[in-house]
Order: sequence, then C-alpha cells, then structure tokens
Amino acid sequence: MFLDDPISKIKNIGEKRALLFSKLNIFTVRGLIEYYPRDYEDRGNIKKIDELIAGESNAFIGKVVSPAENLLINGKKITKLIFKDEAGKLEIIWFNMFFLKNVFVKGQEYIFYGKVTDKFGRLRVESPEYELVSGGGLVNAGRIVPVYSLTHGLSQKFLRTTINYVLENIEDDIADVMPNYIRERYSLMDKKPAITNIHFPESESAFFKARGRLVFEELFFMQASLIKLKGYIKNRVDGLVFKEVDISTLDLPFALTNAQERALAEIISDEKSGYAMNRLVQGDVGSGKTVIALISAYVAIKNGYQVCLMAPTEVLANQHFIYFKGYFDKLGIKTELLVGSLTKRQKNSIYFNIESGFTKMIIGTHAIIQSGVRMKNLGYVITDEQHRFGVGQRRDLTLKGNNPHVLVMTATPIPRTLALILYGDLDISIIDEMPPGRQNIDTFFVTGKYLPRVHNFIREEAEKGRQIYIICPSIDGENEQLKSVLSYTEVLAKELSPLKVNCLHGKMKQDEKNLIMDGFSKNLFSVLVSTTVIEVGINVKNATLIIIENAERFGLSQLHQLRGRVGRDSHKSYCILISDTKNKYSKQRLQMMVQTNDGFAISEMDLKLRGPGEFFGLKQHGIQELKIANIYKDMEILKLVSEAVNIDYSLLSNEEIVRLDNELCKILDYESNSVFL
Ligand code: ADP
Ligand code: MG
Repeated sequence: MFLDDPISKIKNIGEKRALLFSKLNIFTVRGLIEYYPRDYEDRGNIKKIDELIAGESNAFIGKVVSPAENLLINGKKITKLIFKDEAGKLEIIWFNMFFLKNVFVKGQEYIFYGKVTDKFGRLRVESPEYELVSGGGLVNAGRIVPVYSLTHGLSQKFLRTTINYVLENIEDDIADVMPNYIRERYSLMDKKPAITNIHFPESESAFFKARGRLVFEELFFMQASLIKLKGYIKNRVDGLVFKEVDISTLDLPFALTNAQERALAEIISDEKSGYAMNRLVQGDVGSGKTVIALISAYVAIKNGYQVCLMAPTEVLANQHFIYFKGYFDKLGIKTELLVGSLTKRQKNSIYFNIESGFTKMIIGTHAIIQSGVRMKNLGYVITDEQHRFGVGQRRDLTLKGNNPHVLVMTATPIPRTLALILYGDLDISIIDEMPPGRQNIDTFFVTGKYLPRVHNFIREEAEKGRQIYIICPSIDGENEQLKSVLSYTEVLAKELSPLKVNCLHGKMKQDEKNLIMDGFSKNLFSVLVSTTVIEVGINVKNATLIIIENAERFGLSQLHQLRGRVGRDSHKSYCILISDTKNKYSKQRLQMMVQTNDGFAISEMDLKLRGPGEFFGLKQHGIQELKIANIYKDMEILKLVSEAVNIDYSLLSNEEIVRLDNELCKILDYESNSVFL
C-alpha cells in the first residue's frame, strides 16, 4: 500500500466504503492519513474494577470469564458479557448487537471504554467500545484516542482502526519535505512521527510537538505559494533614502493620535533606512489613514520625488483629490486627478505634466497604471483600500518608478494572522485607536414595519442640520424584492418633502457622481440615496445616520464599512439595518452588528461564519482550506513561518530543493517543476 494508492486498496475498504470516504473528501491513502482528528479523548487512565464510579466513562482491561450470552428482556435484545480483572468481576451489556456473541473469546484479554451505570446498586457497563489486547498498540482505549468528523455509515472505531492499520503498513516513506536545516532551526518533529502522533499521541507533549510540526508545514507552504504567486520572495531591495522634513508647514487642524504617530514614525524610519519600504497600514474605518498618506506624501515630495495615490473608485479618488489639493495648492505642489472618465485631451495634458515632472502628486484610480503614464521620478506609491486591488495592480504601479517606497492602506480589518498570510511580503502598521471624541454608532435592526418611524428619525436628524445616507441594494428595481435607488428616491422625495433628496449609483456619469458627492459633502442637500458606491473611503463628517435597506443582502464586513460612513466626527451617529429576513443566520449576522462597533470582532465573526476560504476569496489567491492550522491560535507559529519562508538556499541539498519544488508545484497546480529554482 502506497500513499498515492486509492483508498480502496486498504483492506476492509470496498466500493461502498470508498464512497463514504469520498464524502469526507478522502480519496487516497495520503488523504486518509491527512484526515486529522477534530478532537481527542483521554482514555489513557485504565481503572481497576473496584475504582469505577457510576456516571463516569472509563477504560478498563479485563479477561472474558465466559462466552457472551444473547438475551431477550422485555422485548429488548441484550448481549451480556462478564469479565474480570485483579480487583473483581463486572457485567457488560450491549443493546441490539446480537452479533457480538461470537466476537469475544473466553480467557482473552480486552480493553473496554464505556460508561459505568448503577443498576439497582450494582455497577455495570453499557455499550462500551472494545478492542482485543494483543501484541500491537492499543487504538481505541488505554491511550489518548482521536475523534474524527464522521459521515453516516463510518464509525469512530472503524476510522481509528483503519488509520492505525495504514500507519503501520504503509510501504513508502512519508517523505519529509521540510529541509533539514529548517527542521533543526525550529526544532520540528519529523514528518512520520508527527503524522503518527497527530492521530495516536503517545503523550500530551508528543501531541503538541506533532501538531506544531504539521501546522508549521501547512502555513509554510501556504505562505511560500502565496509569495510565489506574488512573483517574488520578500527580499530587501535597495531603496531611496528620504531626509526628514518639517511637516508643521502642512498646518493640520488636529494633533495625530498616538496610533497615527506610531504608524507615521514606522513609515519615516523605513524611508530613511536605505531599503525600499513595503508597508501595510491597517486601521478600522474612520481611524484616520488618509492624513498618514498626506503627510508621508508630503515628505516624499519635499525630497524631490513624485507620489502616486491610487484608490479603487472614482468617487473616492475625487474625494482624496479635493483633500490633497486643499493642503498642497497653497504650498505650490501641483496635484492632479487621473481617472478613466477624463477625455483624451485632458489625459494627454496630465500625462505631459507627469512626464515633465511638473505634477508632483498624482491621485487616481487604476487609470494611473495605464501605459501612457510615464513618471519623471516616482519615489512613493500609495494604494488606498488595498483589498480592492490585486497584487498585480500594486506591482504594476510600483514598476512606474525605480524601487519606490510602497504604502498600502486598508480599512478592512483583517485579523493579524490572516494579514500576515495575505500580505506576507509587507510590514504592518496598525492604527488601533480612533481620533478623540468619537462615539459608538448606535445600531438598530428593524423590520420594514418600522419605516414610518425611520422616516421620522430622518426628519429629526435633518432638522438638527445633520445628513443621512440611505443604501439600497439595487439601482433600478429589476428585482421586486429589493429596494432600488431610483424608485426609493422618488418615494422619499415626496414623503420627506421639503427635505432635499438626491441619489447616487454606479450607472451615473462620473461628472454627475462628483457633482452629487460634492453637493452632499457641502451639505447642499440632506438625504443621499445610494448603492454601495459609497462603501469605501467616503468621508462626510456631517452625516450622522445611515439606513441600510435589505440589510440581509450585505456581508458583515461590508455592513461595517457602510456603517463607517457615519460617526466620522464627534456628532452622535446611528445606523439602522432594515430587513424582513426570516433566515436565522441572516438575523444573527445583523444582530452582531447591533452588538458591536469593533471592526476586528466583526471580521473575526465574518471569518468564522464564512470560513477563511470565502472571506477575501482566498481560493483566488491560491490558498486551500486549512487542514490543521488555526488562523486565530497559531499566530506564534506563523511568525516563525514568515521568517522561515525566506529560504537560505546555500543550506539546501539538491534533493531538498527538488522536494520543496514538487510540493509547491502540487499546491499551485503547476505542471512543470522549478518553482523554487
Ligand atoms: P479612514 O481611516 O477611514 O480612511 P479618514 O482618514 O477618512 O479615515 O479619517 C476620518 C475622519 O477623521 C476624517 O474626517 C479626518 O479628518 C478625521 N481625523 C483623522 N485623524 C484625526 C485626528 N488625529 N484627530 C481628529 N480627527 C481626525
Ligand atoms: Mg479611507
């Protein structure tokens, strides 16, 4: 029997059972031994008969005293067996298992594991698991035993026995793909004992070593393959050296928070280091990332370089453009906006200004990475809302310069462990503090019945001079189940008259969108009905109420982003989620929004609900579902792994390189080898 044999090669597994195994996604012998337990039971403590206590489950070893008997008692089929150990005798019974009569041999020793019951003052054991004590190791009791996720028709005992049989009879080596020096450096258990101990731990400490080894390997290959996908290994490349700059000339209207100061200091220290910066700034919605971009851009420009800032939507790019211009115009720094909707003439003029070096600050969408754009001396590249861009786009932008410093910003609060995997090539700064004066956004989850009250609430906020967003899932109402921007705008305009209501959606022309957004940010009207085009980045401080229609249609992280459009100043703000969903899980999700404002908690919940595979479309990044590593608990190992994936090739034998290579090709589904070479 070899690792790559189909599962049906294993004794006792025919077509029927193979089908059952396929339901667990197990098709080969390898698949079986990599089917790790979901839990363990400590059955290691073997008790003597006189130590048994009713109500507890225990393991005990005894000799069968007499052949088993089948009895019919009150219509119940009962199999009875008497066994003994040094301390005494005990009765065991099973229900509806007449076939057991012929299983036990008088005088033979068995190990049992089962619940002790007290029947009219006499102890007995009901329906225990059993196993013949022979020369080999124990599988089902007398040790820590594995507990697997099952499918109907496969029992724990069968799985345990089969996996144990395979581990003892496998003919090929379970090849150790981790290079020797890495195994030594991180004191990793060898592969074969790790696999054996993950199923049948010899001891608690052996289990932890085994698990640690397998988690290490899994995360190692996940990260190595990601790095391969990204096209380069984290290598320190030489970078531009920036001098420090007096930033007080920017004349910011507020003091930075401690978290902002820290992030900025990390950026500046990178930029002075002589190496190209690759840094992710991660901070919850509203934590104040834009100003970090502004200040660091200013530093680069003062050092004589051009700076690009790329945003995922034109609406956001436009907002950034207005914000940056507000600071840079008076300092004589030419700032331009480069987006897809410009005319050819406009673009050509901007291209010219960029190429000549006249324009220092370029803000735009992915239009920036088009081939017509040639920079004079691009020294710093920033992408906002990084999760909306692919790795490739980030790289293309970088290639417009000569090893520019790179900063990426994301509001999507990714658990740090995941961030390390996804952005394994980046250093991370976290802004974990909100600007002063922010209040929790009170969140309510109501059904459509409450609409009249919601409308009243809109009027009240508007009377206070505040502004309101209303989010609908569709634009023109093709789906009758969903509120649409166009028809709801009409309804509201009448309903809320004389309040002014306007709308915004993706099918509008860019000029129109900008006009509307501009009007809203200047408080020219109170109510903006919109699709999710305003989901990321939009900053209108005066908005205090966001109402989300058909809230069940949106993911948790998306709802959190949308909610982040309000509460961006010290005004008390509110979020109302409207949904008539009957679905239990949808309701749970919306309830979660009511309970917390903490983006990290929400994304963690999102991750748990959807699993890491769906969250962020990890599969597109080439990430498989994790078999053993836990993104929450294995942070420490992940740290070691991020270090270990910077492989020192001088310490590898040719054979090791080939093995690593094969493994990666398998994971990445590459046909030919030499991924690592
Ligand atoms: P995000 O992190 O979501 O991109 P922004 O950068 O848009 O957040 O900032 C949100 C709001 O907070 C903006 O109006 C910004 O001016 C304000 N802000 C940022 N930093 C501070 C600070 N240190 N003190 C007060 N307000 C701040
Ligand atoms: Mg932002």
